[in-house]
Amino acid sequence: MKCPRCQALLLEETGYWNCADCGSAYNSSYFTNREDQKLNQQEVNQMATIGKNAQDYVPPQTLNISELESVSVNIELEEKSGIKKEDGKEFHYNVIVVDEKEYRVPNSVLKNLKAIMEEKPDLKNFKVKKTGEGYNTEYTVIEL
Ligand SMILES: [Zn+2]
Repeated sequence: MKCPRCQALLLEETGYWNCADCGSAYNSSYFTNREDQKLNQQEVNQMATIGKNAQDYVPPQTLNISELESVSVNIELEEKSGIKKEDGKEFHYNVIVVDEKEYRVPNSVLKNLKAIMEEKPDLKNFKVKKTGEGYNTEYTVIEL
């Protein structure tokens, strides 16, 4: 499943899809409601069936950096990898770990933060504001 906005790979979360690159999030129904996404619909249906059969399995839920009130610039960024369902190739995305929970960091946030720190190298803390949904998701880095 590819991001309709930037064509990066979408990562499956509970009930929605999340783009590792631009950070856009899409409800599963976003794809099933689109007639031009019939292939994607098949994928979603298949996964729902697998999900039903694995009732004991609780998928690890990855949160988003925008859910944190304050983030230190000194927190360690970890690169995670996964395997694409379509072609078996490896892909990468970034997370930070706070209180043993993983928060995904979209690449657009890193670009934004880099630009701010070029102007303000002594920045200590920031937060990420998320606006819009799906194709219109935007992340704004705010200095604290
Ligand atoms: Zn995207």
